[in-house]
Amino acid sequence: QFPFGRRLPCDIYWHGVSFHDNNIFSGQVNKFPGMMETVRKITLSRAMRTMQDLFPLEYNFYPRSWILPEELPLFVAEVQMMKDNNPSWKPTFIVKPDGGCQGDGIYLIKDPSDIRLTGSIQSRPAVVQEYICKPLLVDKLKFDIRLYVLLKSLEPLEIYIAKDGLSRFCTEPYQEPTLKNLHQVFMHLTNYSLNIHSGNFIHSASVNTGSKRTFSSILYRLSSRGADVKKLWSDIISLVIKTIIALTPELKVYYQSDIPAGKPGPTCFQILGFDILLMKNLKPMLLEVNANPSMRIEHEQELSPGVFENVPSPVDEEVKVAVIRDTLRLVDPQKKKRRDSHVTVPPEQQWPGAHEQPGLQEVSPWQGLDEMSCEVPPKPTPCSIVCCRCQSSEQAPGASQELPDAPQGPEAALPSLCLKQVFPKYAKQFSYLRLVDRVAALFIRFLGVKGTTKLGPTGFRTFIRNCKLSNSNFSMAAVDILYIDITRRWNSMGIDHKESGMCLQAFVEAFFCLAQKKYKSLPLHEQVASLIELCECRLAALHGKRLVWGCG
Ligand code: ADP
Repeated sequence: QFPFGRRLPCDIYWHGVSFHDNNIFSGQVNKFPGMMETVRKITLSRAMRTMQDLFPLEYNFYPRSWILPEELPLFVAEVQMMKDNNPSWKPTFIVKPDGGCQGDGIYLIKDPSDIRLTGSIQSRPAVVQEYICKPLLVDKLKFDIRLYVLLKSLEPLEIYIAKDGLSRFCTEPYQEPTLKNLHQVFMHLTNYSLNIHSGNFIHSASVNTGSKRTFSSILYRLSSRGADVKKLWSDIISLVIKTIIALTPELKVYYQSDIPAGKPGPTCFQILGFDILLMKNLKPMLLEVNANPSMRIEHEQELSPGVFENVPSPVDEEVKVAVIRDTLRLVDPQKKKRRDSHVTVPPEQQWPGAHEQPGLQEVSPWQGLDEMSCEVPPKPTPCSIVCCRCQSSEQAPGASQELPDAPQGPEAALPSLCLKQVFPKYAKQFSYLRLVDRVAALFIRFLGVKGTTKLGPTGFRTFIRNCKLSNSNFSMAAVDILYIDITRRWNSMGIDHKESGMCLQAFVEAFFCLAQKKYKSLPLHEQVASLIELCECRLAALHGKRLVWGCG
């Protein structure tokens, strides 16, 4: 902390809320510009919708969602259509205000017409989502999983997932939603911040009982009942990678606007909190992504009426300390310097565990997505944190001291990394999904003025012209009309009114439109892929020509 300012720059900046907390020009910052905006409920739903349009099967881990108020008529019409097609379908929906957290303002409904009764939708945009009625229950209770994910770098994409997470339990036995129980938050919402106020909330000193447990303790239980936890982990990893692939295009637009390429600036990393619900059949479903997951390792305890004290929470400590420790080990600037210069850094300047190669250990349960095996953890004990510490002190004097840059003293024996690299490790399996990323690259190329996130009409025209997309069937006048129509619609519903012009999502819509026009008979993802290839090819040719002209 440097409350009175400091003259020298830092290696790592740990901001509380967002990238813009302070002006930073070097080092590494624990926040990406635009992350908060990108993971808001509405923006996330839009990004997931785009991916669901392109790859419906691959993105079926996100519940069907509609954005209110703009898609209220669509919501009503689609639900009616689905009910007509399947009269036995008795859905429930969950309405979540945009920008809300901790269960704030969330309610369940049985029928779209119930939304209008609340009246606040116009003033507070929201997402309405199909409610997952058959979650997996443990001890008859609904629970969700909070998993910590480190986005270590955007370009190239580097993702790490923490081996353990938290399971947060409801405090009333679950029943499928009926008109009678819809309002029972302790039955339907797993938020810690809500359930803590229930008389049934159990603070446990153990990590495998109580209202907050480690995810590994749940896996252990599932595995002992014969569940395929290996597949479950593999599905979770794939959910995380696909979700980040959906978010990267938008993040890249923010990134280039705040940290233009070629200019000195910081690099970014960020710990994200993924909220995942397991369905009865063990399918993981994404609920949301948190840009600022709570890293508290204490909770309040009422000692006597009205007298509160912060006491350690063993479950939080077990999971979160490891996440922060490993994040610092992975972004360790000394390690990078050593790698770059091959100069041995004196031990006193080294970060804990600096000798470890991030993500390269092939430690089960992360042995390759196909044959991913989930090492079922030993039955968790209440003292497992203490055990980690014991391990450290037992191994401390030691073996690795001859290594040129091995840390010495107690640092030498830090536990192995809890954060495991999943990308680029599994990049091959997922690269075909990164279409919107390539559309975003085209968008960024034509943004022109540095520091913007929106494309002006001239930029759009230049894009069309340089990629030779205009012809006798699609005149430049039609190009302008397309630009105006789509931009106007997106700006009328956008949250960001600061800049005028075409936002990335509007550009993506326009791009899809052009792709559909050009390659009529193909499925959407092939239409889009074909148009991307065409654009990239024509731009490369143009670039080549310019180089030749330059030489001439
Ligand atoms: P918040 O940011 O306010 O916590 P969430 O999207 O995480 O909002 O939702 C709050 C809680 O509501 C979740 O923790 C989960 O228990 C429940 N929930 C959210 N979406 C669904 C859904 N589609 N189906 C079932 N339960 C859900």
